[in-house]
Amino acid sequence: MEYRNLIGGDWVACGTARANVNPSDVADIIGHAAQAGEEELDAAIAAAHAAAPIWAASTPQQRFDALDFTGAELLARKEELGRLLSREEGKTLAEGIGEVARAGQIFKFFAGEALRQTGDRLASVRPGVEIEVTRTPVGVVGLITPWNFPIAIPAWKIAPALAHGNAVVLKPADLVPGCAYALVEILSRAGLPAGVVNLVMGRGSELGPRLVSDARVNAISFTGSVPTGRGIAAACGAAMKKVQLEMGGKNPMVVLDDADLDLAVAACLNGAFFTTGQRCTASSRLIVTEGVHDRFVAALTAAMRGLRVGDALDPATQMGPVVDARQLEQNLDYVEIARSEGGAVTGGERLALDKDGFYMTPALITETTPDMRINREEVFGPVASVLRVRDYDEALAVANDTEFGLSAGICTTSLKHASHFKANARVGMVMVNLPTAGVDYHVPFGGTKGSSHGAREQGAYAAEFYTTVKTAYTLP
Ligand code: NAD
Repeated sequence: MEYRNLIGGDWVACGTARANVNPSDVADIIGHAAQAGEEELDAAIAAAHAAAPIWAASTPQQRFDALDFTGAELLARKEELGRLLSREEGKTLAEGIGEVARAGQIFKFFAGEALRQTGDRLASVRPGVEIEVTRTPVGVVGLITPWNFPIAIPAWKIAPALAHGNAVVLKPADLVPGCAYALVEILSRAGLPAGVVNLVMGRGSELGPRLVSDARVNAISFTGSVPTGRGIAAACGAAMKKVQLEMGGKNPMVVLDDADLDLAVAACLNGAFFTTGQRCTASSRLIVTEGVHDRFVAALTAAMRGLRVGDALDPATQMGPVVDARQLEQNLDYVEIARSEGGAVTGGERLALDKDGFYMTPALITETTPDMRINREEVFGPVASVLRVRDYDEALAVANDTEFGLSAGICTTSLKHASHFKANARVGMVMVNLPTAGVDYHVPFGGTKGSSHGAREQGAYAAEFYTTVKTAYTLP
């Protein structure tokens, strides 16, 4: 399979192509992705720039129809595309199919948003003058996405961009071109004018800065790592360009003595290890009060050891491989760092299976302290640490002792502690008796501190980023 770039409505083959490797079986080459260079990127931006006013003038019905078509096809093909997703990214088949369904639901939601126009008509303080406050499209939006949700994240950026009348240039992550291509291929048949959606695959370090700095691009929405995000923020700041960043996390899950232990173990197993821990909302710091600590660690260790690691496409697999060799090495390095800092390690070993893939066992690191690197830096793999604390007050202080602020959870049967935690956890999303990962598609998503910057993504709040507010005064 050859994935081409979509530029101004044409599928463009480029001089070079990059192999798309299955992380469950490196002998399986899924396809080859055309690698755009400077010239192709320039053409894609020009196409979006030309198409933006056309799409800005589209009716709510046209926007609804294109988004609804895309959502319906994603939902109808969720098994097929979920298989592709699991094959190229490595999450389990159930997780892959679930993610494609999520992308479909996102398009359906934003189809509705295209019809739910909002605005205000107000009286002026001056006699006879009328005021209207409306939302207008931003123009051309550059979308830069990571590999870990290869169809849902492009979906939750493209769908609101189109619903609010913008043209887009999507630069997906190098490791997952198949999903980006599949999504854009559906969009190319959705009735959108040529140039409204453009796909450019290629090296992020080359294409990314050009996309960000091009004066024809009015806004950038980025999801990825903190260092890349910081660079983008600086460039957008210098150009006074609208920017939205979703980055890393070091998400705490607090377990109190009064928690339902089975529920807490299930929430931590899910939050820490499902999707191979490759979620920005993964629970990587498990903060446990001393009365339940030992029973919790014993139960979670048993549950973790029971997880079946294997080929993402095997229906029996509960944890797929790590996405690539570099991420696997980083995960194993962090396990060693934690050990050298005095942590007690269970699991966290390289795993050799029948097929040559990037497999490791999930890791739980106990006897850790808040100052250890394992509790301060994002690993982005199936590696969780446990911190023993005296009581709720210390748990909250440790939970907030981080430069990140994406998601935080608490397992407790105390309404008092749950309410206090919801109010005082310094994060964008709080979960009570639920895993830190796993969010709905119709409500805002995002964090605080070093995790996020700019307006929220998703739900009705997405309008903040994808539109500009205009105030019109009329003397009739
Ligand atoms: P990354 O920062 O390496 O890459 C993200 C995207 O940026 C890719 O498309 C990449 O090609 C591109 N890129 C690379 N260099 C660039 C540059 N100089 N300028 C512009 N773009 C450039 O991140 P990744 O490894 O793909 O993803 C993992 C990271 O993403 C983790 O840190 C994770 O926490 C984060 N993440 C955050 C969220 C969230 O919503 N907060 C969601 C998913 C993933």
